[in-house]
Amino acid sequence: MNIKTKQTYYKLFINGEWVEAQESATFEVVDPATNEVIAHVAKGEEKEATLAVDAAAEAFKTWSKTPARKRANLMWDLYDKVLENEEELAQLITKEAGKPLKQARLEVKNGAEYIRWNAEEARRVYGTTVESTFPSKRLHIKKEAVGPVAAITPWNFPFSMIARKISPAIAAGCTIVLKPAEQTPLSAIKFFEIAAEVGFPKGVMNLVTGTPNAIGDTWLSDKRIRKITFTGSTAVGKMLYKKAADQMKRVSMELGGHAPVIVFDDCDLDAAVKQIAGSKFNNCGQACISPNRIYVQESIIDEFTEKLEKMVARLKVGHGLNDNSDVGPLINASGLEKVKSHVNDAVEKGATVVTGGEPFAENGCENGFFYMPTILKDVNETMKIANEETFGPVAPILSFTSDEEVIEKANDTDYGLAAYIFTTNLSRSHKVSEALEYGMVGVNDTLLAQVEGAFGGVKESGIGSEGGPETLRDFLESKFISTTI
Ligand code: NAP
Repeated sequence: MNIKTKQTYYKLFINGEWVEAQESATFEVVDPATNEVIAHVAKGEEKEATLAVDAAAEAFKTWSKTPARKRANLMWDLYDKVLENEEELAQLITKEAGKPLKQARLEVKNGAEYIRWNAEEARRVYGTTVESTFPSKRLHIKKEAVGPVAAITPWNFPFSMIARKISPAIAAGCTIVLKPAEQTPLSAIKFFEIAAEVGFPKGVMNLVTGTPNAIGDTWLSDKRIRKITFTGSTAVGKMLYKKAADQMKRVSMELGGHAPVIVFDDCDLDAAVKQIAGSKFNNCGQACISPNRIYVQESIIDEFTEKLEKMVARLKVGHGLNDNSDVGPLINASGLEKVKSHVNDAVEKGATVVTGGEPFAENGCENGFFYMPTILKDVNETMKIANEETFGPVAPILSFTSDEEVIEKANDTDYGLAAYIFTTNLSRSHKVSEALEYGMVGVNDTLLAQVEGAFGGVKESGIGSEGGPETLRDFLESKFISTTI
């Protein structure tokens, strides 16, 4: 797929066809590393959103009855084709989201793994028979696809978030209408090109790029859509959840986070620093599970900070297409402004900049939205950075003394997505991970987006999870059939 001009802009994919939006309306996609327009994409509104539901509702009649083995076979083909197209997909992710190419390649592989896992799970949907109190009755609980599903996804992992939503839905027998983020529609479009080549029946997967509230409101008010699966901010998630309540639509919500990392003085410090730096600066800190508050036990805080500083000094900032870049740009100007305001607020309230602390505008990065990898120490709970998602390359270090104190501080947030602890004490690892009010806890581990695990949050970080053995559960309903014989 080449990046095209406005004359040959990218279209919507509805009912197996590439179609224009009304009056050929388009919006621009910008490379955040250069602030240049790189593509024009069809701007769908209510009309296109409704056409997509028409297609998904019609296709549901046959797709939900298609044998699971056949659905799984198509998904295996999709998995193979995604990997064949890995490099092109990765380059698109880098161009539209700014992510370094090596990280974009990992994202494609990770997304593909979800397609494969859900293809495997498609054939493992089991009903139940239950003995009745009455000898003349036979009781049967059957699993059925929930119906046509609407999916809305964010820009920070533009490919894998789509794979994580589409693949369990179609594995369960649902059809789907998808709206990707406006900043990053190109990898989504490529995904649909690949799906079209694989030969999914028309209407099973439909793509509508365009105006978020027009598309979202249309889908939420259409009774034929039986479920919404959303990944994005808690604020937008809450709004969609309220609207979904009107028709009792099923919801899955993967929302924001504010991950605490607890570094105990008995940990393997070198291993902890390596993992924390890797996770913090991955995707320029723009991840829902990115470490947001790094609590380090007082006795090792100086040693930890020195080691982290050495690690950060090795990071190369630059355009993601440069092979040696480790940290790309923020997604846009407002993303950069948010990082600046959080750092300024922290410094005004007493934090110290260990390294970084400013935008980066050298070596070809003059026009993009780059910020230097930054470490702040002397951070405390009065600062914005200790409470709100910064979504940037800033590592804030806070100190603690006792287990009880740090558990209370770590839990003192409305978010509950991911938390991390570093310790070699087995008993402490169990006690603390059980006391943390989070959907996911990494113990000496920051790699949580593993397909075999259940990725999801509690409290205001979401409802439901993606991946793992229960991955199809959210796309299935239980039907109870009681028969008198
Ligand atoms: P966002 O602003 O909430 O947007 C997410 C999606 O919702 C985008 O497609 C956006 O469209 C759409 N949207 C916005 N307003 C809408 C409306 N009124 N009706 C329907 N759709 C609407 O979030 P983001 O900035 O893209 O992503 C960052 C957030 O996602 C962070 O909070 C991060 O923690 C969270 N996240 C969570 C997970 C997880 O698994 N828990 C994973 C990744 C990201 P437009 O882009 O077109 O505005």
